[in-house]
Amino acid sequence: MKTRALITGASRGIGAAVAEVLAREGHRVIVNYRGNHDAARALQERIRASGGEAELACFDVADAEASGRALQALMADPEPIGIVVNNAGITRDGPLPGLTAEAWTSVTRTSLDGFFNVTQPLVMPMVRKRWGRIINIASISGLIGHRGQTNYSAAKAGLIGATRSLAQELAKRNITVNAIAPGLIETDMLGGLDMATLKKIIPMQRLGRPDEVAELVRFLASDHAAYITGQVIAISGGLGA
Ligand code: NDP
Repeated sequence: MKTRALITGASRGIGAAVAEVLAREGHRVIVNYRGNHDAARALQERIRASGGEAELACFDVADAEASGRALQALMADPEPIGIVVNNAGITRDGPLPGLTAEAWTSVTRTSLDGFFNVTQPLVMPMVRKRWGRIINIASISGLIGHRGQTNYSAAKAGLIGATRSLAQELAKRNITVNAIAPGLIETDMLGGLDMATLKKIIPMQRLGRPDEVAELVRFLASDHAAYITGQVIAISGGLGA
């Protein structure tokens, strides 16, 4: 089904690749981001240049009020949002004894509260339409943990729990809810990390690419994936397998 697709955290990295792929599929994409206007506008131009439709929606998914206002405005369009990809996420790594409350809450508020703030208003319109795709970008870290990432692992494990419960709530309405758990994907998020060391811990000995994750989103958002719900699909080159 061709529909409107909201991708959070889509100015860069995985989210930008998802926006490009879904626009190529013929969906009208809504590119959410927090502040990087230049990257968002460049993406919008790339999508338009290849014949797709993209609108920009700058708001902080961790801010319930700002998200509510933005969603209200987006939902004024007569065509409901049929696909939501909860992708916005940040890391603030560090061992727990030194982790600040701010590092804890900024990470959990972005991935977990962000999921609630963005998804909750969109569910009833999907229920009325009897069609929907909710795709949550979690992480391998939410499945197996990673040292220095108690905040991030907790946020992503929470997102996986929410995915499984919401899938059960919405299954009979023809709305699927799935999570993707990427391993190490080459984006700004890995900036500053030692790539040579990282590659050694990955069975495939290479990082993943944003377009590889985007292809999985494309499939889960399609009618071909209508019978898949409540799942967590890892894309990690064997990391955590
Ligand atoms: P990047 O750091 O490359 O991009 C992050 C994106 O999220 C940017 O578009 C940024 O907007 C946006 N963003 C950050 N915070 C907010 C917010 N509060 N509200 C709205 N938008 C926000 O990240 P990746 O592409 O690497 O990661 C995407 C998702 O994939 C994340 O959820 C991450 O946890 C997950 N993931 C990534 C992995 C990796 O190895 N890269 C591995 C496993 C999971 P702006 O440009 O305006 O700052």
